[in-house]
Amino acid sequence: MKQSGKQILVAGGGASGLMAAIAAARRGAKVTLLEKNKQTGKKLLVTGNGRCNFTNRNQDMKNYRSGCPAFVEQALKGFSMEDAVMFFEELGIPARDRDGYLYPADGQASSVASALRLEAERLKVRSGCNTEILSAEYTGNRFLVKTAGWQYEGDVLILACGSLAAPGTGATGDGYRLAEGFGHTVIPPLPALTGLYAAEKDCAKLAGIRQEAKVVLLIDGETCIEETGEVQFTSYGLSGIPVFQVSRYVSRALKEGRRCEICLNLWEGRGSGQTRRVFEENREYTGERSGTDTLLGVFPEKLSGVLLERAGISRKKKRNQWTQEEEYRLIKQAEELRFSVVRCRGFEQAQVCTGGVPLTELKGITMESACMPGLYLAGELLDVDGACGGYNLQWAWTSGYLAGSAAAEGTGTLC
Ligand SMILES: Cc1cc2nc3c(=O)[nH]c(=O)nc-3n(C[C@H](O)[C@H](O)[C@H](O)COP(=O)(O)OP(=O)(O)OC[C@H]3O[C@@H](n4cnc5c(N)ncnc54)[C@H](O)[C@@H]3O)c2cc1C
Repeated sequence: MKQSGKQILVAGGGASGLMAAIAAARRGAKVTLLEKNKQTGKKLLVTGNGRCNFTNRNQDMKNYRSGCPAFVEQALKGFSMEDAVMFFEELGIPARDRDGYLYPADGQASSVASALRLEAERLKVRSGCNTEILSAEYTGNRFLVKTAGWQYEGDVLILACGSLAAPGTGATGDGYRLAEGFGHTVIPPLPALTGLYAAEKDCAKLAGIRQEAKVVLLIDGETCIEETGEVQFTSYGLSGIPVFQVSRYVSRALKEGRRCEICLNLWEGRGSGQTRRVFEENREYTGERSGTDTLLGVFPEKLSGVLLERAGISRKKKRNQWTQEEEYRLIKQAEELRFSVVRCRGFEQAQVCTGGVPLTELKGITMESACMPGLYLAGELLDVDGACGGYNLQWAWTSGYLAGSAAAEGTGTLC
């Protein structure tokens, strides 16, 4: 272990803060980790439905969204997916690969949180849990971090306080305020990886249905992004992974006063390529059917009912009495089932935030602040949000590792 001897304060004991503390302590720094929860890694416990999808073999850059994608790409070269896999293997956590999505082999998010905690303990990181940071300042030669009962001093301060997403895990946006105190700006954080409220009343009739579909987000009528996967209809609107994936664009567009619509192509969901052909070619056998029976086996009954209503076809009318125009309208409805988005679900239901401290305010991938020497930033506090699939944790590991390493070794070592 190298001996840097620096005294480093890490604000926030989540994924990025734990990683930063470990990276710095491995370089010989004396690290104190301050966490307001009674234990570190609380948010990690709920990741991946308790299984922790900690990274992904597919590291296509389109899975990382930021105002400065080139920065993220460079940072990921500094601590990559392979580095994360190796890091966790060394801590006794082999990865289980599910179509490229990587989880701990035992399928327990708690193992990831515990392994990080045990490694921090092994490295003699001082962990101050139940310690809420109220303020942070630079006094001329030291950083001073104040809590209700104590004040901590350090040569270096790493801010890793996370975002506003999932406040039950400790996310209250304190990191933004602390960063602003050192001269940083903050792109207003908005909920991302979350469900969408729809204006259409018939959406509630579909609550509980899960349906494969291509999800197209239209902003002011123009296609913004497309995702395919299982859409979940809920009492408030739309949810499910493909809806989560587009939600960060909806958040930003609605904030800018733009019009957002979700257009579902129910024919093009994964595995349903044959569905439309079968429906179009089976008139001979289904001609005597009426109502939702005409779409039996194609779509769930409630969904068929909404499609018929929207296509303006009476439920009593047998299929062989439909006009060509009516059949066309029904097929078109299933191809372009539209919902106007009123708003995104709030921070409580969001997995991450879009927005945060711009990466342009950092000194390259040292993660050191360009506003305040000796201050480092990591994790979701920064303007990076990943797609569903392990990308947000990969960013936490990458940024935490780079910040902790550079903080212990001094500015510029990783540029
Ligand atoms: C339900 C859910 C499921 C998710 N699943 C996945 C997944 O499977 N894969 C994936 O890649 N990502 C997932 N994410 C996202 C991922 O968990 C986050 O992106 C990641 O944890 C961010 O790490 P962080 O260190 O920046 O912030 P956090 O993990 O939120 O850590 C910040 C820490 O700072 C502490 N803190 C804040 N303010 C203060 C203060 N004033 N004083 C002291 N401490 C403070 C907080 O208590 C918290 O512990 C999920 C998120 C949620 C909510």
